[in-house]
Amino acid sequence: VENKLHQQDKLAAVGQLAAGVAHEIRNPLTSMKGYAEFLQLDEESEDRLEYLDIILDEIERVNLIVEEFMVLSKPQILNLENKNIVPILESVLSLVKFDSEKRNIKILLKIDNEVSLVACDENRLKQVILNFVKNAMEAMPGGGVLTVILSHANDQVRLAIQDTGIGIPEDKLKKLGEPFFTTKKTGNGLGLMVSFKIIEGHNGNVLVDSVVNKGTTFTIVLPLISSSELISVGETKLG
Ligand code: ADP
Ligand code: MG
Repeated sequence: VENKLHQQDKLAAVGQLAAGVAHEIRNPLTSMKGYAEFLQLDEESEDRLEYLDIILDEIERVNLIVEEFMVLSKPQILNLENKNIVPILESVLSLVKFDSEKRNIKILLKIDNEVSLVACDENRLKQVILNFVKNAMEAMPGGGVLTVILSHANDQVRLAIQDTGIGIPEDKLKKLGEPFFTTKKTGNGLGLMVSFKIIEGHNGNVLVDSVVNKGTTFTIVLPLISSSELISVGETKLG
């Protein structure tokens, strides 16, 4: 009996996911079809370029959904290499510099140690950090402070991404990372799901702490490779 129930749960989850995917893909398809039909009826339309822009945007939306789902396909191919996380972090923050100024968001970076080696897939990790940083910025529509704190504890690197934004109500916390859970008009609700998956692939985890109308802190925890560890591996081989 227990087994059967478990099966049913799984089927229900698959059904929910399928409904979400179908919904998210049908909307852009419907709109692309509509605009393509306009163009077909009226080749001379003044709005031709505008319609084509919309169609291209919608294609991009579907493309993103497909790409995010590809991350979930197993086995996930992560190319793990020992990298210093500090320059990775700096390069992500430089990507949002312009946008943050426009949005009246101040970015603070606090680093307790210049060298923090983690075994990571650099591009994937960048994608994850950018996801959290973007979410933090989107949580502060009236501006605010984004604080990124890199610290070390035991054998872990902790990367906290902290905003002074709208916060997340208690009942929504457990929905984080569910496919298509979004509270945004233009969100797709896939960013956290993909980010959690990638961090899992790094043997890390993600913590969240949030107070409504005060702000949210997401903390990415990754295993730290100390430089002495790297040297001792070399020494062992020599000896
Ligand atoms: P999206 O950004 O497309 O909505 P995500 O998976 O990145 O999808 O985030 C899912 C939801 O989690 C967001 O819509 C928002 O409700 C909530 N969320 C994530 N990060 C934050 C944050 N820093 N502050 C407040 N809410 C957040
Ligand atoms: Mg997001």
